[in-house]
Amino acid sequence: MSRIAGNIKQLQLRIVRACAACGRDPSEITLLLATKTQPPARILEAMEAGPFLTGENRVQELVEKADALAGHRIERHMIGHLQSNKAGKVLDHVTCVQSVDRLSIAQKLNRLCVARGRVLDVFLQFNTSGEDSKFGMSPARAVDFTRDVSRLSHLRIRGLMTVGLLAPHPVLSRGSLARLRQLRDLITSARIEGVHLRHLSMGMSTDLEVAIAEGATMLRIGTDIFGTRGLPPGTFWPEKEWARAGEVHVREGQAS
Ligand SMILES: *Cc1c(COP(=O)(O)O)cnc(C)c1O
Repeated sequence: MSRIAGNIKQLQLRIVRACAACGRDPSEITLLLATKTQPPARILEAMEAGPFLTGENRVQELVEKADALAGHRIERHMIGHLQSNKAGKVLDHVTCVQSVDRLSIAQKLNRLCVARGRVLDVFLQFNTSGEDSKFGMSPARAVDFTRDVSRLSHLRIRGLMTVGLLAPHPVLSRGSLARLRQLRDLITSARIEGVHLRHLSMGMSTDLEVAIAEGATMLRIGTDIFGTRGLPPGTFWPEKEWARAGEVHVREGQAS
């Protein structure tokens, strides 16, 4: 078994144990591989134990890898912050944008979908940790924001997403993860037409147990499957600077 396949097995055991600890059924949990900085060869290696959903953070990297993996059936979500002027580029390569964090990006995606005659699944991203550096709509605006996005004809709101508080101990991120579940309940009780929140996308390598206890249905895992990011996997695609992309991400999306 390859190292990645072994890591996936371990991770699946963790999921089963975490579900057992809180009386949930592991079949409720979808695993998404956070593949930023991972070259196509390693994604394919992981897929041998799959299939799994994958998620990318940066538009250019997403498009390059989608092209490189064009012959393979790999479902991809956008999970990183999306600038309006790049929205068109990702659309052809993703089945869902999880990082809808403001009305203007929802409107832009909707206009593009109208023009292309397609419907797009989206998750609404909330900043549940209160950290200034985090992307995501303010929880205080949850119902209004959901209502506004729900009026866009070609987007289907399918879930909520958050990046929990990055804390030295996962117990500390519990409040921010619980907050997303509370937002789901709040939005559901508002009974907005066309809104069916099937997914709570939360939980990463360090806090997946807490996320499962708080109701996650989709975990986004990178490190504990692929290893720590930032070392140049030059053996795979020496001409691409995946490692540098990873450092940028860590600064923009994680450490900051
Ligand atoms: C990188 C990333 C993850 C996965 O984080 P790990 O700690 O490597 O498991 C999940 N969600 C988002 C939005 C990410 O950028």
